Amino acid sequence: MPLDMNYCLHLIRKLKILDKYPPEDTEVRLAEALATAPSIHFAEKFVDDWLRGHRKAPMPVDIYGATNAAHNLSKPSFSSFLVPLEPGEEPPGYKCDKCKDTGYVEVRAKAKPWDSKGEPYTGVRKCDHPPEHRGAAYGLL
Ligand SMILES: [Zn+2]
Repeated sequence: MPLDMNYCLHLIRKLKILDKYPPEDTEVRLAEALATAPSIHFAEKFVDDWLRGHRKAPMPVDIYGATNAAHNLSKPSFSSFLVPLEPGEEPPGYKCDKCKDTGYVEVRAKAKPWDSKGEPYTGVRKCDHPPEHRGAAYGLL
């Protein structure tokens, strides 16, 4: 959902002191670009950062570039590596039963427990995917 245009125009007008600020009939194009920001906070920060770092006013492409990048960062796309399951479909097995394909396995220290509650000190190390831990899905993907 785009941000409030009046507030974006108010923010954009803070940049009026900069060189190459567009004439009044086109400054709305900058406000439209700013309205695509993911949040009011992002829009305010963009304008403040631009004021501190630039002599010339931004072009719409500068603003769209920043807001698009912010959207891509805040909405990671899982679709490229997670295929949704059909209703009733079982999730696929792991290739490696030892690390469940995460690549890391938990290890527990053999030394005395780390803390007074007797919890063993644990960490992770890289899984070596030994053949004996290859799961049912090994070789199917
Ligand atoms: Zn493994």
